[in-house]
Amino acid sequence: MKALIYDAAFDVSVKEVPDATVERPTDAVVRITSTNICGSDLHMYEGRTDMEAGRVLGHENMGIVEAVGDGVDRIKVGDRVSLPFNIACGSCDHCVQGKTAFCLRANQAGTAGAAFGFASMGDYAGGQAELLRVPWADFNSLVLPEGTDKELDYTMLSDIFPTGWHGVELAQFEPGDSVAVWGAGPVGLMAAHSARIRGASEVFVVDQHADRLALAASIGATPVDFSAGDPVEQIMEATGGRGVDRGVEAIGYQAHDSSGTEDPTLALNQLVAVVKATGGIGVVGVYLPQDPGAKDDLAKEGRLAFDYGTFWFKGQGMRTGQANVKAYNRQLRDLITSGVATPSFLVSHELGLDEAPAAYKKFDDREDGWTKVVLHPGE
Ligand code: NAD
Ligand code: ZN
Repeated sequence: MKALIYDAAFDVSVKEVPDATVERPTDAVVRITSTNICGSDLHMYEGRTDMEAGRVLGHENMGIVEAVGDGVDRIKVGDRVSLPFNIACGSCDHCVQGKTAFCLRANQAGTAGAAFGFASMGDYAGGQAELLRVPWADFNSLVLPEGTDKELDYTMLSDIFPTGWHGVELAQFEPGDSVAVWGAGPVGLMAAHSARIRGASEVFVVDQHADRLALAASIGATPVDFSAGDPVEQIMEATGGRGVDRGVEAIGYQAHDSSGTEDPTLALNQLVAVVKATGGIGVVGVYLPQDPGAKDDLAKEGRLAFDYGTFWFKGQGMRTGQANVKAYNRQLRDLITSGVATPSFLVSHELGLDEAPAAYKKFDDREDGWTKVVLHPGE
């Protein structure tokens, strides 16, 4: 089968590799119809992680079940399924509590949490390929309406729509709250869409890319261009000095100022400043754990000097982490089916697998108009 392989930093290629197969009775093999490039892939692509050369990337996968093991009896060959980026066993202490992003058994290294096509998240091939092996397939597969309808909406169920929803959840959002989302990448746009669907009174989205801010405006959010002035001041002015009830961080440790200088504390400090006293902040942007041997300087150090004092004095809450996709994906599927949610609004490109290496470069360069790339390996 053809698959997108990580060769080295800034270097991926499409190669012929052995077909994915059923290796355990609880596995399925899925023929991928859509698999998306994600901001999280860029942690690997930019060489910031210990991703081994030769691995297949891709954690945002959906397709048609091609084969099932003897121990699979819920999903069937021919089912159209969405696969959460988290791989979870379904029966450990965390999984039974719905915390599938922190599965205690799926990661062969013994740490909590596993995913398709990721560094440090278990040794699983990704789905930017023609076929994907899905462990614990009955537990991990979400069955979708048959056919090809709303493919570009349903493909957002594997990661970014649940992740955006999770960011709002982590901020302890309640209907009527105002929300500020930092970052208008795919995850931030999904957080803004989620907040709107959940009944936010007002949603601000902060970024500097005009194309992404225009998408935020297209779903009824108020765009805030941080290259045009301090985003905290802009939101304070718009709210008569009250700030917002909830904040979502959807950037991660590569947050930068308008000149491009990276500062991983910039957005956190601005969120602490703009969220009201007693308000909540949900951090879904990724920060790397401290690791003296890490390639990335920030991860080597592993510490962030954000304004903890103001955070403490304002009595804010802050919750973090990978999204437990399975906790939300059934409801979000049904919101798509009924037409309430339309997460495909951010898709900018649909491409074949052969075009993926060029697409990675353009997405990584944040080239104008490259918001979300959906790959169709069969085409
Ligand atoms: P992205 O890189 O496409 O988007 C990030 C956006 O943040 C960009 O548009 C950039 O211009 C903007 N930005 C940078 N600095 C800023 C600043 N100071 N203020 C405001 N905006 C700023 O990435 P994405 O795909 O949207 O993902 C965002 C983050 O979410 C990444 O860290 C990704 O790994 C993470 N993620 C987390 C989960 C999870 O489960 N928690 C799942 C998926 C992705
Ligand atoms: Zn993703």
